[in-house]
Amino acid sequence: MKLVVTGAEGRMGRMLIRAVAEAEGCTLSGAIEREGSHVVGHDAGTLAGLSPLGVEISDDPLPIFAEADAVLDFTVPKATVAFAELAAQARIVHVVGTTGLSDEDLEKLKAASYHARIVRSGNMSLGVNLVASLVRKVAAALGEEFDIEVLEMHHRMKVDAPSGTALLLGEAAAEGRAVALADTRVSTRDGHTGARRPGDIGFATLRGGSVVGDHSVIFAGPSERITLSHHAEDRAIFARGALKAAQWAFDKPPGLYGMDDVLGL
Ligand code: NAP
Repeated sequence: MKLVVTGAEGRMGRMLIRAVAEAEGCTLSGAIEREGSHVVGHDAGTLAGLSPLGVEISDDPLPIFAEADAVLDFTVPKATVAFAELAAQARIVHVVGTTGLSDEDLEKLKAASYHARIVRSGNMSLGVNLVASLVRKVAAALGEEFDIEVLEMHHRMKVDAPSGTALLLGEAAAEGRAVALADTRVSTRDGHTGARRPGDIGFATLRGGSVVGDHSVIFAGPSERITLSHHAEDRAIFARGALKAAQWAFDKPPGLYGMDDVLGL
């Protein structure tokens, strides 16, 4: 399978280049960076800390997508929306790991998925997607006397909050309770907030150091608490999940898929 990595210089981009180079049956056919980036023209392997792979980093995605089977995209929302259109034109699989997409961005991905196979998830790891399916079950089993709070911590460079994974877990809790997250989400508390509204799903965000990603969903009830947690120790888990998603989607019809489809959860 011929794969392209976008955001090649990023933390995930370099990890994805290494994962593709090491995966059996996969070839890195292209690597894309932002227009004018200082790494354009450099070798993607060297950038990722490997021996040269003979793949030059480019800022012109369309001709590179046209020669590929799939693109692994962990960049920024604006770039991901543009890549979705190009991937649909090229009829290739688009694996979207980018977080912080607005409702408008998601609408554009949905439109692109009428022609393209898109797999999008705020977290591509097996562990988090398993935890999400447990959260759905626990939320469905417990009543509103159990308050749901999602706590997350990430490294100091992360730019969006709550994390895509925290929102994925919040969505799972809301689905379990058969409510809309948009109606129950409380992402900030500061000052005199008043008492907690029954049924709210709260989010708390910590940022610092080099934390790859810690998430806990707390079900706090009368005199007891259940906590489901996941700790990501290495970004390789997301890269492996993204590769798996690309391979899974290869022979699927156009549509917008999630990691629960890929993992059969
Ligand atoms: P990062 O280190 O900032 O990398 C993002 C890269 O994208 C940068 O190299 C950036 O280049 C590049 N970029 C920006 N605009 C571009 C464009 N138009 N074309 C091509 N490249 C462009 O961030 P990261 O930690 O790798 O994370 C990237 C995204 O993945 C974030 O949204 C993060 O939350 C998400 N993420 C998701 C998962 C998951 O499992 N779903 C896991 C980890 C991270 P410049 O710096 O030059 O602008």
